[in-house]
Parts: sequence; C-alpha cells; structure tokens
Amino acid sequence: MSKRFIGSRQTTIGREIELSGTGVHSGAPVSMVLHPAEADTGFRFLVSKRGRIISEIPADVRYVKNLTLCTVIGDDAGVTVGTVEHLLAALRGLSIDNCYIEIDSREVPIMDGSAAAFVAAIDEVGIRELAQPRKYIKVLKPIRIDEGDCWGELTPHSSFFLDVQIDFETPLIGRQRMALEMNAGAFRNEISRARTFGFMRDVENLWKAGLALGASLDNTVALADDRIMNAEGLRYPQEFVRHKMLDAVGDLALAGAPILAAYRSVRGGHRLNAHVLQALFADKEAWTMVRAPWVRDPVSVDVPVGVAAVNYAADRT
Ligand SMILES: [Zn+2]
Repeated sequence: MSKRFIGSRQTTIGREIELSGTGVHSGAPVSMVLHPAEADTGFRFLVSKRGRIISEIPADVRYVKNLTLCTVIGDDAGVTVGTVEHLLAALRGLSIDNCYIEIDSREVPIMDGSAAAFVAAIDEVGIRELAQPRKYIKVLKPIRIDEGDCWGELTPHSSFFLDVQIDFETPLIGRQRMALEMNAGAFRNEISRARTFGFMRDVENLWKAGLALGASLDNTVALADDRIMNAEGLRYPQEFVRHKMLDAVGDLALAGAPILAAYRSVRGGHRLNAHVLQALFADKEAWTMVRAPWVRDPVSVDVPVGVAAVNYAADRT
C-alpha cells in the first residue's frame, strides 16, 4: 500500500527529483531537476546554461515552436526545449498539477522511451497536496480537426476519456485502437511503460538530418520490414497505440490544466494533438475553466498502487 492523496486539491511533487539521461535527437547528455511548485504554477521549464537560468518556458500550447518529430516549446528569444511529451505525460498522468522542470539542455532525456522512469522517480518522492482547489478545462462543445486522413476531436465529457487509433501498413502494427477512462491508475498500468517506436528504414535519413542521434534499442522499439529488432520484444499487447496514448496525454498537458473531455484521435500525432488544442482555445465558447469545490481538510486515502483514483467531476464556477 502506498499513501496517495486523491481529491479536489492541486498537487505537486513531494520533494526535488534529479534525473539524467540522453536527448534522443541531440544524443547529448542532459541533467534535469524537478522542483515542487506552488498552486497555479502549472508545469514550467527552467532552462539553465552553466548553472544560470536563461529562460522560463511554460508548458503551454501557446509556446509550441515545432511539432515535426516531437513536441518543442520555446520562448521568443529562441530558447527551446524538445521531447517534452513523455515527462509531461507522467506529471499529468499521475494527477500532478504543478512542477518546475530545471534542465541544462534543449531536450528532455529520453530514458527508456516511455514514461516509466519519470513515474518511478515521482513515486520515490510522493505527491503532495496543496491547499488550493484543482482547476480543469471543461470542454463545452465538439472541436474537430481533420488533416488529410488524420483527425482529432474533443467532445464534452465529465472526466478525461481517451480513444486513440493508429493504422500502419506493416503487419507488425496494423490497425490498433484503445479507449480508456484516463486516471492515475490507468495511466500507470496501461500506458506509462509503452515505448516510442521507429522504423529502421527511416533511421538513415533521420541521422543525415541530425535527428535521432541518441536513439537506440534501449529507448526505441525498432521495426524492420518483418520483425521487431529489440531482443526483449514488446512490453504490452498493442504497445504502439498505447505509446500514442501516452503522447496524447503529454501533448494535451499543454492545455495548462487537466481537461474534462473525451479526446478521440485517428492516425494522429503531436501535430494533430496541438492543433486540436489550438482550435479549442481559439473558440471562447468551446471551453470554460472550472474549479473543484473547496474542501476543509486534505483528503488522504490509502490506495494500492495501480488502483484507479476517483474521477473528479468538477462543478462549474
Ligand atoms: Zn512519444
């Protein structure tokens, strides 16, 4: 049994977390420190250079600079942080609202290609409940984006429901679809360990373009024409669509608060996820901010690891 706070208040991490690894695109070493943050901070990247913070970049869709292979956010001076999605997925997926992410490189470390290392690190320090009620972005009407044969749609829903479908010609993937009521337990058990994947046939072109320099079988499920190159095989049935769900949780964290909606994506990716969010925020009648009701005492509940946290249906304020 592990002690977890579940309820209507905002949360942050229990204490500082130090992590290090490699950037999947740069191949460069990265050190990162996650710091607890006060209520209404959201997720904010503090980019450091030689020990000095040179930029503070909110993990917010308005700061998105590039969506080609991973999600890149940046400031107006040209400082950027890439591959933010798996870390943001771990934070949002475990129902954390506020965190500073200090980083000494332009890319979040890839770790094992999933959110597992971030989840393990957060588990070690625990989650702290703050006094202020949690805020949600409540979707009020459907928002749909079509891009070629891809589409993504947010529709009103009382919690966060995720329905993702992918379709790849290779029989190693094929068509995969998974739908889940997303909460901390579902994220941890069904999604968090799903790794990123790539095709061997693309590797040479990526390397020529100076990308995927840190990619290896330690952090990517690599697909050849007729087989998976990783000796250990897959971690889950349908690991590929689960990873796309992980990416969607991370990309939608750029909303700045948890979303009350059902999100359906078909053949989507980072670009589509960000474009759906941008379309949502462009329509003032499509969403509203709601707040969980104030509660007098922190709610402390013993929950076995992996058991779903309650879904909080917030009242409209
Ligand atoms: Zn990913």
